[in-house]
Amino acid sequence: MALTAMDIYKQLPKTNCGDCGVPTCLAFAMKLAQKQASLDQCPHVTDEAKAALEGSAAPPMKTVTIGQGDKALDIGGETVLFRHEETFHHPCGIAIRISSALDEDELRQRIETICAVEFDRVGMLFTLDLIALDGQDGNLPAAAAIAAEASSLPLILISEDIEALRGALEACADKRPLIYAANADNMDAMTALAKEFNCPLVVRGDSLEQLFDIAEKAIGAGIEDLVLDTSARDTASVLQDQTAIRRAAINEKVKPLGFPTIGFTVGDDDIEKVISGCTLIAKYAGIVVTDLLELDTLLPLITARLNIYTDPQKPIQVESGVYEVGQPDASSPVLITTNFSLTYYTVEADVSAGNLNAWIVVVDTAGTSVLTAWAAEDFTPEIIAKTMKECGIEEKVDAKIAVLPGGVAVLSGDLEQESGWKVVVGPRESSGIPAFLKTEYAERIK
Ligand code: SF4
Repeated sequence: MALTAMDIYKQLPKTNCGDCGVPTCLAFAMKLAQKQASLDQCPHVTDEAKAALEGSAAPPMKTVTIGQGDKALDIGGETVLFRHEETFHHPCGIAIRISSALDEDELRQRIETICAVEFDRVGMLFTLDLIALDGQDGNLPAAAAIAAEASSLPLILISEDIEALRGALEACADKRPLIYAANADNMDAMTALAKEFNCPLVVRGDSLEQLFDIAEKAIGAGIEDLVLDTSARDTASVLQDQTAIRRAAINEKVKPLGFPTIGFTVGDDDIEKVISGCTLIAKYAGIVVTDLLELDTLLPLITARLNIYTDPQKPIQVESGVYEVGQPDASSPVLITTNFSLTYYTVEADVSAGNLNAWIVVVDTAGTSVLTAWAAEDFTPEIIAKTMKECGIEEKVDAKIAVLPGGVAVLSGDLEQESGWKVVVGPRESSGIPAFLKTEYAERIK
């Protein structure tokens, strides 16, 4: 449970000195409660108060970082059971499992394929997050050395052979790979490896109770970055265990279960594997490991993740400004729309599909669609005219003629006055733009 402003205020010095940048301790407490300030901005808070506040404010699930550098992956750190209560903070990582027994050429080719996977969805670029090297068939140290050299993606090292893991860690410890996995039989050796190489460690139990015990022992041994695996593999058990772990962490603050989880796609065919992967993404895996590497099977996983991990309070939006579709020149039409991603990309796709060249002026409406923005007075003639002036479209075209979405035709007169442009009312639906530009537009601008 998050601390209230009053909980925080009780721990502050109450001198209202203003050194934190706000006039009173109560105002500072309110900012802290809203996560708009950090405790270190008050130079007078006592060590006891700091310990009490930081302890209470610590998230119920630890954030665990795998890898190093730009591609390092943060997982966990979640604070709610349901996305609509706040948001989920760290999108689950998708790891592709490859056998360490592949010969060097095959291994390099597979890694190259993994690194090349890229999807562009409504202006966001999605890639794969991790490479899971499965050392069950041997050769793990050599494979880890190749993977570390050929890719900057974080690694997961999978093996029950402690010496093979040690060799692999020596080859790639600077990548801070995730070690898989400590279980009831090998946990002393595994925790020693994780400590020696300062790497995060998966703990695996055959039941929730056993997982709790192993995680508790690993914490006692000084391992701070754990990832949990219940060993459940059929979808119903996975769903049950993942939900139980998340509830225990968030609702009951059960510390040994306050870590992100890892799961594996299972199934007799690709469709079953996709379903199990989407189940893990929805409930509540920190990492999904799969051997799916075809784009048509990865796309559902990436789309499911996008849907679960977008912030429900922030519409997906594009930058305000002027965009080119095709190869527009000084005689190309100028279309006006809002910065809601789906609106912009629909307009862009319809213009592209018509093989047309056009400029699109995108107005910042806080990520809302045309009619919503108009109703909220975020898409007014004044705001549109200001964007047209500031985005530089005037210098790109010969004639000052702009096409306004048909749904807000009522704005056209005032927009002409505000902007000094001739305003042509376009179709209500974006799908009508190609036909409109090819037929009516020439007549309307005469
Ligand atoms: S610096 Fe600390 S003591 Fe001073 S007003 Fe801010 S919170 Fe209060």
